[in-house]
Amino acid sequence: MGERSGCLSTSLEITKMQIIKCAICGNNSKAKTLYKDNYEFSKIDRKSFSARRMPDGTHYRFLKCCECGLIFSSPIIDALKIKKFYEDSDFNYQTESEYLRKVYYKYFKKFINAKNKNVKILEIGCANGFFLDELYKNGYKNVNGVEPGEGSVNRAAENIRKEIKINIFDRKLFNKNTFDIILCFHTLDHVVDPNLFLKDVNLLLKKKGKVLFVVHDTDALSAKLFGQKSPIFDIEHIFLFNKNTLENIFKKNKFDKAMAFTIVNEYQLSYWVKLFPMPSIIKRLLLRSLAISRIGNLSVSLPAGNIGVVAQKQ
Ligand SMILES: [Zn+2]
Repeated sequence: MGERSGCLSTSLEITKMQIIKCAICGNNSKAKTLYKDNYEFSKIDRKSFSARRMPDGTHYRFLKCCECGLIFSSPIIDALKIKKFYEDSDFNYQTESEYLRKVYYKYFKKFINAKNKNVKILEIGCANGFFLDELYKNGYKNVNGVEPGEGSVNRAAENIRKEIKINIFDRKLFNKNTFDIILCFHTLDHVVDPNLFLKDVNLLLKKKGKVLFVVHDTDALSAKLFGQKSPIFDIEHIFLFNKNTLENIFKKNKFDKAMAFTIVNEYQLSYWVKLFPMPSIIKRLLLRSLAISRIGNLSVSLPAGNIGVVAQKQ
């Protein structure tokens, strides 16, 4: 249990905690505890907020809104502190990103289908710009990114790096009605106020502009099978969606034609093992033997518990 839930908490620490409400219903009148918190306040640091780190199973209290099905963390630490952790976070998933660029491009082609290669594209939370690079290589030269982790941006290819703003996403960084397409992969579930985030995304899009977002799926087989031990129940995640709640939050924020779909991921076998909940000693031994035998390098395609959504500005 976190120190928050014990009587030893000081009032100073309590003031740092922030209550989160259901982002679809706007209140917590129908929210019930799904999982109790299990973190130690003193152990939360920037490493807890590094993308694709080895899942350690720590999380805030998770609530589920019985009205709309949205799952969310509450209370959470101060938003400014979270912002600082993301600014200090680094990019450490080079191998996985080589797979992700192909997977995301497959869905970009399928659902965004931008035949005009001069479209202006923004990716929010673009890390080292690996997907902007993929778009660029496929002929889309008007690519832009925003990413708070300076360490990640410094790893971007030269021509991509100059198109990335080092910052937490803020609509004031860009002019209104600027972009034809806005992309965002595994970032919406980390955002403290997803309604404000989507309102800002909407403002930056041109009329009929399109979005493609990817998040974790609370209805995925892995989430149901492993429950609290699923890597999605993590201290980084504030809101967790299923197809229904994902479509609903876009509809609530003036998007039309919101359509959610299951993502099939391709990764090396060793990355799948990294995601799989099991005792850490066994996991380390297994990963070592997979590395020695090189079997760990085999590509395996599976639904990894991710969903995407496409939608259009009204
Ligand atoms: Zn709700």
